[in-house]
Amino acid sequence: MNTKEYIEQGEKYFLHTYNRYPIVFERGEGVYLYDTDGKEYLDFGAGIAVFALGYGNREYNAALEGQISKLIHTSNLFYSPSAVTAAKEICELAGMDRVFFTNSGTEAIEGAIKAARKYAYTRDGHADHEIIAMQHSFHGRSYGALSVTGNDHYREPFGQGVSNIRFAEYNDIDSVKALVTDNTCAVILETVQGEGGIYPAEESFLKELRSLCDERDILLILDEIQCGMGRTGYMFAFEKYGIKPDILTLAKALGCGIPVGAFLMTEKCALKSLVPGDHGSTYGGNPLACAAIVEVLRQFKERDIVGHVKEMAPYLAGKLEGLKEKYPFVKDVRGEGFMRAIELDFPVGEIVTGAQQEGLVLLTAGSNILRLVPPLIIEKEHIDRMVDILDKIFVSH
Ligand SMILES: *Cc1c(COP(=O)(O)O)cnc(C)c1O
Repeated sequence: MNTKEYIEQGEKYFLHTYNRYPIVFERGEGVYLYDTDGKEYLDFGAGIAVFALGYGNREYNAALEGQISKLIHTSNLFYSPSAVTAAKEICELAGMDRVFFTNSGTEAIEGAIKAARKYAYTRDGHADHEIIAMQHSFHGRSYGALSVTGNDHYREPFGQGVSNIRFAEYNDIDSVKALVTDNTCAVILETVQGEGGIYPAEESFLKELRSLCDERDILLILDEIQCGMGRTGYMFAFEKYGIKPDILTLAKALGCGIPVGAFLMTEKCALKSLVPGDHGSTYGGNPLACAAIVEVLRQFKERDIVGHVKEMAPYLAGKLEGLKEKYPFVKDVRGEGFMRAIELDFPVGEIVTGAQQEGLVLLTAGSNILRLVPPLIIEKEHIDRMVDILDKIFVSH
């Protein structure tokens, strides 16, 4: 089939939940993607902040091939070497005590919500607890995750969802305090809001939130599904703030392409939380998924991915500042590490398709915001090329 035929067939059979771009990607190498016509694209989207270590990664592929030839799946009724190893390594890295592996980000959120409610249920003997979430947050598309997602548009057609969710303003501690009651069991937020427009938590906000949660025995759930795994120049974005969550959710770059997620918690939380019968998953953390995690963590360490992001990020930030100074329609540039926003004063749709024509993949976050979440291995030359393409498009706009 040729490009046009793939697109026609896709449009005929896919449920229309995405407005896809008319590009059919066939393979990738490093930070480049290639479509069915052989055209090369510099990738600043990484499959939505997933493929951190680059495409065509031979060691990653070999690790998966090795696991496939041994054992792909066993169920969680048994142990497997890769799952046991992945569990130890991710817990130690995150400073957490226990982990439950899932198949996606949204499932990690489901688990986190259940874990928090169970904790409060064990403590108080009833199940009427409330969760405080943030406006403009994004936590996923399944019912529980949707219920804590602060976007009415995503929730409205689907009814009530999980009960007892309140929404506070991100980076506004008073708005959180105003919602706290004796029944509040958890506060959930992204350490850096992703889909909502790349807004990092302010230091005073997160620290005060941590204290508030400590005082009231409220669990702090940090969603680092997008901002975790080195993206901000820290292995986990919360490290920058000198605080720790009670429950942490991960996915996206955790498996670098193999569908996997996780929620992790402290022992204090685990002692009152989920027990046998409360939660489960047929696939979650199967040997293949966990082989991916183990290999991802190995490469993060061996290649010092976090150090690389930390080193390169100021260069990227400086280049984006340059665009802001040059073009009055660039309203703001912000973010951390390799998680950056360029906010324009008009919708970015044409910029994204213009970039595609020039061989650059960009993401958006809301109508006026370009979102840059490249593979974490990009070098100066890639940043230069991305900025040159944007410059060319901006000039003619
Ligand atoms: C992507 C994302 C999710 C949902 O992950 P899925 O794997 O798509 O279910 C949840 N939270 C944040 C912050 C995300 O960026």
